[in-house]
Amino acid sequence: MKFISYNNTSFKKTKYYQKLPSAERQVFDILSSVFHFKVNTYVLEHLIDWDAVPNDPIYKLIFPRKEMLQSVDFNSLLLLYQSGLDEKTLIPFVQKVKRKMYPEVKHAETSLPKVNGERVRGMYSNFETIVSLFPDPMAKTCHSYCSYCFRWIMFNNKEAQQNSSYSDPNEPVAFLKEHPEITDVLFTGADPLVLKAKTLQKYIDPILEIDSVKVIRISSKSLAWWPYRFTTDKDADELLALFRYIQSKGKHLNLCAHFTHPRELENDVVKEAIQRIRDTGTVIRCQGPIVEGINDTPEDWSSLWNAQIALGMIPYYMFIEADHNSESCFRIPLAKALQVFQTAQKQTTGLARTVRGPVFMNDLHRTLLDGVVTINDQKYFVLKSLQAPPNMEGEGTIKLIPYSETTKNAGDLIALFSKESKTTEQVV
Ligand code: SF4
Repeated sequence: MKFISYNNTSFKKTKYYQKLPSAERQVFDILSSVFHFKVNTYVLEHLIDWDAVPNDPIYKLIFPRKEMLQSVDFNSLLLLYQSGLDEKTLIPFVQKVKRKMYPEVKHAETSLPKVNGERVRGMYSNFETIVSLFPDPMAKTCHSYCSYCFRWIMFNNKEAQQNSSYSDPNEPVAFLKEHPEITDVLFTGADPLVLKAKTLQKYIDPILEIDSVKVIRISSKSLAWWPYRFTTDKDADELLALFRYIQSKGKHLNLCAHFTHPRELENDVVKEAIQRIRDTGTVIRCQGPIVEGINDTPEDWSSLWNAQIALGMIPYYMFIEADHNSESCFRIPLAKALQVFQTAQKQTTGLARTVRGPVFMNDLHRTLLDGVVTINDQKYFVLKSLQAPPNMEGEGTIKLIPYSETTKNAGDLIALFSKESKTTEQVV
């Protein structure tokens, strides 16, 4: 299959745009001017069930939804569009709405690595033994864009890309040599596997020379969005050869595969792609967020995990979607997330118990929502800090917050796990 991608303008020229119910078309016209939109031939032809639109989960995973904007902004945009003004005239208002939507991504001071007092570009030291790397070309795009992605500010935004990424492949080397405690390096983006194998190798090679780095991780949704990356793309074989080469240097290679819905694992091409990757010795660990209206039932998750096990992959994380827009329209209540996770685990092979969740993905502490306890007739959510940034207190601690059937928000997790925060006993 030939890779053809569509943005908000070119998509309108496809037959699929005509398939949208007229109300959806209007929402698309308005929202795709504010949010990122990219889709490709495989997703359009083999993943979305067009008979089920607008309720189809993969459709919802790609197409922006009305609730992503505050209703006041959506209604203002609607009025402006209906007034017949041309798109250029609307740009200042659209930009204003966009700025309101910028997500706040928090970094601890200790997460921003420095060498000789100078900040190392494109590197984040999230936890004690791992750094995330953002080489400039990797930070730019993915094979398709997910509606819930909090990295959308990077797309088509040169300034954001330059401020948070690096271009010289040797940029991270000095820091990693000074910090032998860092054993894992995560290449992330957007999606690193959009790049040609040769470009990827240019950025990975300097890291392979650092003895203290034992694990190379690559984070990608390409198995779901474009599995041909590993089968028939021109340099698919070269990419798999790169995977072998990394391991020949004595490193463990982990592909952090992002899957959201069991349908992403159904087509023959994705099964072939997985097998080809596994044949190189690469381990595929799977993660994804639980998202309202897309994968929020126990059956979604038990099917996903069972399929991952059957295909030889390892279920790793169920995340709670980052709280990146004011309406939190992708989040489900914490109580429901917990119930979905626990019920799904009961319906799944014991081998899938490797998965941890629900876990908050967009705070400094990686925090597990571990259960509910009742103390003195009061119910509490049990939260556990699984990992904290270097030199920050709190890793391994357990905290309780009041239980609620409806809340989607655990509050400020950083404050909760800081030293000054009340202890569990005090909360109780
Ligand atoms: S593939 Fe990942 S980085 Fe790309 S849009 Fe989806 S969530 Fe965001």
